[in-house]
Amino acid sequence: MCENPGCPQHRGDAVIFRQLLDPETSTYTYLLADEESREAVLIDGVLEQLERDVALLRELELELTHTLETHVHADHVTSSGHLREQLGSRVAVAAAGGVANADVELRDGDVVTFGGYALEVLSTPGHTDGCVTYHCREAGMAFTGDALLIRGCGRTDFQQGDAAMLFRSVRERIFALSAETLLYPGHDYQGRTVTTVAEEKRWNPRLAHPKRIDVAVPANLRSGLVAPQETAEPAGERRPVADLMEEQGRQDAEPWLGMGI
Ligand code: FE
Repeated sequence: MCENPGCPQHRGDAVIFRQLLDPETSTYTYLLADEESREAVLIDGVLEQLERDVALLRELELELTHTLETHVHADHVTSSGHLREQLGSRVAVAAAGGVANADVELRDGDVVTFGGYALEVLSTPGHTDGCVTYHCREAGMAFTGDALLIRGCGRTDFQQGDAAMLFRSVRERIFALSAETLLYPGHDYQGRTVTTVAEEKRWNPRLAHPKRIDVAVPANLRSGLVAPQETAEPAGERRPVADLMEEQGRQDAEPWLGMGI
């Protein structure tokens, strides 16, 4: 039996969860609600899907308390303002996003609650400077927006994009969550819906530790002129690529990043 009083199994109720797709922009919208209190939040609603989402909330008999944005999007218009007008929900967005008429300006460490559940705000800038990830510890889920996509990351070539900052956000904040945490991205262009911290650490080609980087980079900085024994795989723990790049004075994380919008 679970000893954690915040755990849904322990409490005998469950989180209501729906993953919704806008096919035009491959944008995911997420509905989370507490089955007992019926309070709900909607993450990254899309204007063109306003009627669909309002209908779903009514059908499930949920009260929308907040709309949350993972960032100020460049590829679709949010439904948050219209949902506020229709349902009285509060518009919550990162303070760094600079949204003029938000009701709640979120900062790192803030918590948004719906019923007995909580979403913790993790600041994960880099795709834009106002990007946040929402972590629901009780449900073992995190909503990464475009900071981390499945096997990729959001673009960094507009809207204050900063590849080195995004690299740090993913490795130091999202990858710091427990390995089994389910990660739900802002988009997927290939029909995938969910991943985990462990899966992305292993398989994300933008972020995984290159197999021979500890050998190859030092050797190539000497044009490959090293003794044969120096090209052998080093023993012991591998160092993070970010540390190595910093040591080399290189901030060009761009090749590791840059997929998606
Ligand atoms: Fe985006």
